[in-house]
Amino acid sequence: MIDQIKKLESEARALEPSPLDRQNIRKSVVDYGEHFLNSIATANAYNKEGSRGEGLLNAPFTDDPGNIDELMALIGNEVDYPGLNPASGGHLGYIPGGGIYYAALGDYLACVSNRFAGLYYASPGAVRMENMIIRWLCELMGLGPGAFGNLTSGGSVANLIAIVTARDAKKLNDNELGKKVIYITRQVHHSVDKAIRIAGMANCVTRYVPMDRKFKMDAGALQKMIVIDRKSGLIPSILIASAGTTDTGAVDPLRKLGEIAGKNELWYHIDAAYGGFFYMTQQGKERLDGIGMADSLVVDPHKGMFLPYGIGAVLVKNAQFLRDSHYYMPGYLMDSLSATEESSPADMSPELTKHFRGLRMWLPLKIHGLNPFRAALDEKLLLAKYFYDQIKNTPGFEVVNEPDLSVVVYRFVPKKGDPDEFNRKLLDKVLQDGRIFISSTRIGGSFMLRLAILSFRTHLDTIEMALSILKTESANLEKEEI
Ligand SMILES: *Cc1c(COP(=O)(O)O)cnc(C)c1O
Repeated sequence: MIDQIKKLESEARALEPSPLDRQNIRKSVVDYGEHFLNSIATANAYNKEGSRGEGLLNAPFTDDPGNIDELMALIGNEVDYPGLNPASGGHLGYIPGGGIYYAALGDYLACVSNRFAGLYYASPGAVRMENMIIRWLCELMGLGPGAFGNLTSGGSVANLIAIVTARDAKKLNDNELGKKVIYITRQVHHSVDKAIRIAGMANCVTRYVPMDRKFKMDAGALQKMIVIDRKSGLIPSILIASAGTTDTGAVDPLRKLGEIAGKNELWYHIDAAYGGFFYMTQQGKERLDGIGMADSLVVDPHKGMFLPYGIGAVLVKNAQFLRDSHYYMPGYLMDSLSATEESSPADMSPELTKHFRGLRMWLPLKIHGLNPFRAALDEKLLLAKYFYDQIKNTPGFEVVNEPDLSVVVYRFVPKKGDPDEFNRKLLDKVLQDGRIFISSTRIGGSFMLRLAILSFRTHLDTIEMALSILKTESANLEKEEI
């Protein structure tokens, strides 16, 4: 048996590369990363043509070690080329992500040391770091001293945790489910609808509150709905507002809604996955006034803090509710009960073992300081205003609303023909060009173009390029049509 063990050991030891092997592999990987970053300024934001990753399928897993240069080439051609390039500053569609470099180094260290960030007992340092980030977020958003939260994989899971917490806090899991009312608008992010369904609340009454012309929840209409619902024997329970809708960037009247929620004892959830971090800036403070009134709040550092995908946050004003919904103590973890100075992420989330995602946020915040983040967010708000002013004054284009934050909705109105058809073609032309990526939406039945600014790599020159592409392609299209 000893011989057998030793034979297996000599094969298994390949999983612990020598310093020299590490150096060689690391060099190839870092060289690839450097090449990627050094060419990001001129790389396309979207590649419509080419492989769709099929090459990966031609290289299946085998028993034998691979060649690192071939593997890097596979990543380059099959993964990092086709489709959307979210690392590009030209990513102006959906809600752009980020990918600041020092976050990658934080992830690198988190993976190398592999701290167990689920329980304070197991890694007091890792958990303190994550809890410190959560307390900083709670303070930033003005949630008060009793607030706490959890770092999640993204906004969708953060919304789910918030909805489950609201469900339990408002006792929506009893047999009167069909009488409990949730108030939202049609512009609420679909991850909230998903969360409501996953949380077993699909049988609640969902009221779609009317919106004003700027796609903000109409507070007066909400108040009336609540009164009518009460009269008819229903139980108003949860109000869900958006601090920056994904579609148009509209911010609901957060303070007014907070007052209505308070008076009517509704759980007040604000989805600020897109817009929340603008609260770091003076302009944002005014536009997001009232955000601290939330009972639960979602922000997405992989959007507004420019981190790479894989980090969101849920914050709950009264942390006890969050814990009540998620705490569980199995026998095999009872040793952890002895360490109580800090709460454990596992008590605030469905996750036990998890990525130590705090380090990818802590490291860049500490290396850069907060100032460049605030400046970048302020810059994005002004860039959106600049794009709005320019496109509005460009003959042929029309805009919907002045942006609340950094999303502008617009379209070209051709002299002849169907505007929907024209703008669909215009979008296609822009994507074929590939230097910028924009997306579309439907507003009042019309096909509209969206420009969303949130990449830390988007600057004035990017917006000038976007304007120039839109002008050129719309003029070309109009010529073709005539
Ligand atoms: C992006 C977004 C979400 C979903 O967050 P993910 O991080 O993509 O899971 C939820 N709500 C709003 C308003 C968003 O913009």
